[in-house]
Amino acid sequence: MSRKAYFIGGGVGSLAAAFFLIRDAGFDGKDIKIFEDLQVTGGSCDGNGSVTEGFLCRGGRMLNAPTFECLHAMLKEIPSIQAPGKSVFQEIEDFNKVVKTHANSRVVDKNGCRLDVDTMGFSMRDRMQLLQWWALEMLF
Ligand SMILES: Cc1cc2nc3c(=O)[nH]c(=O)nc-3n(C[C@H](O)[C@H](O)[C@H](O)COP(=O)(O)OP(=O)(O)OC[C@H]3O[C@@H](n4cnc5c(N)ncnc54)[C@H](O)[C@@H]3O)c2cc1C
Repeated sequence: MSRKAYFIGGGVGSLAAAFFLIRDAGFDGKDIKIFEDLQVTGGSCDGNGSVTEGFLCRGGRMLNAPTFECLHAMLKEIPSIQAPGKSVFQEIEDFNKVVKTHANSRVVDKNGCRLDVDTMGFSMRDRMQLLQWWALEMLF
C-alpha cells in the first residue's frame, strides 16, 4: 500500500511526528513531505548562522536541564549525522560538557540589545511564585 504524509510547518512538532511515522508506522522517509514557509527550518526552535558569523536561535533551549523526557527519548533514537555511532542526544550531552551555558539575558531585540520588560508588570514576588509553580510541576 502506498502511503504519503504531508505536514505544514517545519517545526519540532512536524519533525517529531515524522520520526514516529518512520519508527512506529513503518513509513519510508521519502514518503513524508514537510512544507515550510520560511527559509529557516525548526519553527520556533530555529537556528541559523555560520561558523564565521556566529549562530542565532530565537529562544534559549535549555537542553542541558534534566527535563523534556519525551524529546530526549526521541533524540536518543536518532543517529547523529556529524558524529557517526552517536545519537543526537549523546551529541548534545557531549556539547554541553564542553560549552557551558552562560546567559546574560533572556530577552533581546533584533540588534541583540537587552529588552526591558518591566512593562509586563511582574514583580520579583510574581516571578518567584511562577518559579515555585514550575518547580512543583517538575517534581510532582
Ligand atoms: C523565544 C522562544 C523561546 C522558547 N524557548 C523554549 C525552550 O527553551 N525550551 C522549549 O522546550 N521550548 C521553547 N520554546 C517553545 C518551542 O520553541 C515551541 O513550543 C515549539 O517550537 C513549537 O513547535 P511546533 O512545531 O508546534 O510549532 P512551530 O515551532 O511554531 O513551527 C510551526 C512552523 O510552521 C510554519 N508554518 C506556519 N504556517 C505555515 C504554512 N501555511 N505553510 C508553511 N509553513 C507554515 C512556521 O513558519 C513554523 O516554522 C520557545 C519559543 C520561543 C518563541
